[in-house]
Amino acid sequence: METVIPDLEDALHDENLDPDWDSARRLGHQMVDAAIDYLATIEERPVWQPPPPEVIARLSATLPQEPQPAEQVFADFRRDVLPYNQGTVHPRYWGWVKGSGTVIGAFADFLAATMNPNVGGLNIAPVYVEYQVLDWLKEIVGYPREAGGLLVSGGSEANFVGLAVARHAHTQGRDREEGLTSHRPLVAYMSSEGHSSLQKAVEILGLGNRYLRRVPVDENYRIRIDELEKMINADRNAGLQPFCVIGNAGTVNTGAIDPLSDLADFAQEQGLWFHVDGAIGAVANLSPRLRPLLVGMERADSIGLDAHKWLHINYQVGCSLVRDRELQRSTFRLIPPYLERPTRGIGAGPEWPSEYGLQLSRGFMALKVWMSLKEHGAKKYARVIEKNVAQAQYLEQLIEASPRLKLLAPVSLNIVCFRYQPEESSEEKLKALNQELLLRLQESGQAIISSTTLGEKFALRACFTNHRTRKKDVELLVDLVEKIGRDLA
Ligand SMILES: *Cc1c(COP(=O)(O)O)cnc(C)c1O
Repeated sequence: METVIPDLEDALHDENLDPDWDSARRLGHQMVDAAIDYLATIEERPVWQPPPPEVIARLSATLPQEPQPAEQVFADFRRDVLPYNQGTVHPRYWGWVKGSGTVIGAFADFLAATMNPNVGGLNIAPVYVEYQVLDWLKEIVGYPREAGGLLVSGGSEANFVGLAVARHAHTQGRDREEGLTSHRPLVAYMSSEGHSSLQKAVEILGLGNRYLRRVPVDENYRIRIDELEKMINADRNAGLQPFCVIGNAGTVNTGAIDPLSDLADFAQEQGLWFHVDGAIGAVANLSPRLRPLLVGMERADSIGLDAHKWLHINYQVGCSLVRDRELQRSTFRLIPPYLERPTRGIGAGPEWPSEYGLQLSRGFMALKVWMSLKEHGAKKYARVIEKNVAQAQYLEQLIEASPRLKLLAPVSLNIVCFRYQPEESSEEKLKALNQELLLRLQESGQAIISSTTLGEKFALRACFTNHRTRKKDVELLVDLVEKIGRDLA
């Protein structure tokens, strides 16, 4: 065979990717200073501003060929990246469902990257840290310690894992070898308010979107179990195989929590897997005052939750929990010779996390969760979560008190849907008015909210998963919406 690298003498150099340690230390300190300054003075900047054309042009440049000083790279970052952030760290960001991050979480990501372990497995502390974090998250949702779990990229992957295990359970493990070829279609059920990630999951799992039933909801946007039962009966009569019921612990539109206890009973009676999408609301179980809303979640066969939303862990980290640990493991476990686990050496230690999900190589996501939960503790987290729910209720009150604003859905948790509604006006006009109002508000850089559609109605939507928001920010939001609405009407 021809030699790939013929000039061995030249190629056997000592060049590597390390910096000069003294200048790296100086630069690192500058980065920490810049990061702290940025967060400490965040309010002086717009919540959001669009990257201007010259920035986008520089961010389209081709691959750099020659080295450049790290100081220059950092200067590029400060000029072209940092100012055009999303704004989740700002007290007036209430768009979609976004957490605000924590400072210790940011430090943790730096430390995790410094250690640079691959947390797929091995006898290393990061694996134990992940298992400890998983035990804490199980404790939060009321799961036993023996349950299975895995940190994943977010709620989407957590839902995917839950449904994959459900499919595996239903086919008694034959799905891995045979696929679904010998099966009549498997059918899953969620309310019409279920999240798009669940559709993606059934699509990728080969179940088919058509077999993910959308069950009608009641006036509080909660799943109707009588309708669910009718659908299941019809599907059974048609020769299909219902296998999974999905409950929402906080819907993305309105924050509605399905009657999880009733759903757990129902799934049990029907012999169906019960999965809870807790991407938004599962961690509200930290609060003794909110816990009653979530009763029944702890009976789920699997739960998907997000740490980068209401736990404010820096992006990205979510968590899949499965009551039957062995079932989760047998869904994903695959050990070729090069991954065999010996009894001694670095390869020993606890079970490998990679046996519980899709990823083999995995980052040290657990450290930021571990440090943040240790620094702040469950009780403070609970208070901050309760504060957000109170802020949603306060916004509801301000809307009800305003003759020009109209609430469009009951406030179940931390999400408020409303619109500017000056006087009698057609649906079409109200939609156009509120769409324009939303864009002007976003472009003002004063606050970010997002939108959705409820029935036929276009809704402004504020989601309180922000630990920096204060009462006066909620008041300012109402002032801004009223002012822009007046200018437009
Ligand atoms: C955000 C969200 C998801 C998806 O979670 P990601 O972390 O964005 O992948 C799933 N379900 C609900 C209800 C959500 O709000």
